[in-house]
Amino acid sequence: MAIGRFEYQAPGSLQEALSLLDRNKGRTSILAGGTDLIVQMKNGQTCPAIIVDVKRIPELNRLEWSEGEGLHIGAAICLSKLMRFFPVIEKFDILAQACAAIGSLQIRNRATLGGNLCNAAPSADTPPPLLCLGAKAVVSSRKGNRTIPMEHFFLYLPIYPIPPMQANSILGFLRVGQRSIHMGFSLMLDRRKGFPHSHLRQKCREATCQELFPMMSD
Ligand SMILES: Cc1cc2nc3c(=O)[nH]c(=O)nc-3n(C[C@H](O)[C@H](O)[C@H](O)COP(=O)(O)OP(=O)(O)OC[C@H]3O[C@@H](n4cnc5c(N)ncnc54)[C@H](O)[C@@H]3O)c2cc1C
Repeated sequence: MAIGRFEYQAPGSLQEALSLLDRNKGRTSILAGGTDLIVQMKNGQTCPAIIVDVKRIPELNRLEWSEGEGLHIGAAICLSKLMRFFPVIEKFDILAQACAAIGSLQIRNRATLGGNLCNAAPSADTPPPLLCLGAKAVVSSRKGNRTIPMEHFFLYLPIYPIPPMQANSILGFLRVGQRSIHMGFSLMLDRRKGFPHSHLRQKCREATCQELFPMMSD
């Protein structure tokens, strides 16, 4: 199916993007890498009148690590950049592994972490490690910023406009604190033929690993 006509906007600031969403409620879609959105537009699942490209927004492009603040991942950071960031490899390897399992090199070069979370596919690869690492999402709207723990983030997606992630909101960044010494187990339970798109990637605390997966202690 051909994509219908739409207006393309690429705001350079978060405030500008939020104003656009606010002024055009119900007519917009946020575009990051487009690896989900463009497919959905082609399939006729969505046909926004206005596309708001968030990749030029500086706040969404920060990727930083510090001992005090932990890991800051802007929502528009692409997966290949995230999985090569040394602090992620060194301290959050389960997240690096999940990114590496997604699609192909071309997909990972376009696809963003924010898009993977906001698309909220049940088969998405990055939510399980972020849930296990206790990540928090910072979501911005005209009313201000809200910090949402990962375990609450998916209760509402993708059926906006139900809070906390409303249609006129933008996922700005993720914050992941210091990794717990009890975390570090990763198991991919299912691989589809063709490319490694896992249905379920389970992470668990080492302490409870044997209870959850007794077959692994054999
Ligand atoms: C061939 C192929 C293979 C794939 N393989 C995998 C795989 O193995 N594992 C996997 O998990 N996924 C896979 N995907 C899905 C896809 O690549 C990921 O979900 C990707 O991370 C989405 O990111 P994006 O930046 O392209 O999002 P987009 O397509 O730009 O956006 C996705 C959705 O999120 C919304 N959105 C994006 N950014 C924000 C934001 N900052 N704030 C609010 N809303 C936002 C958009 O409006 C849209 O609804 C695959 C896709 C393709 C085409």
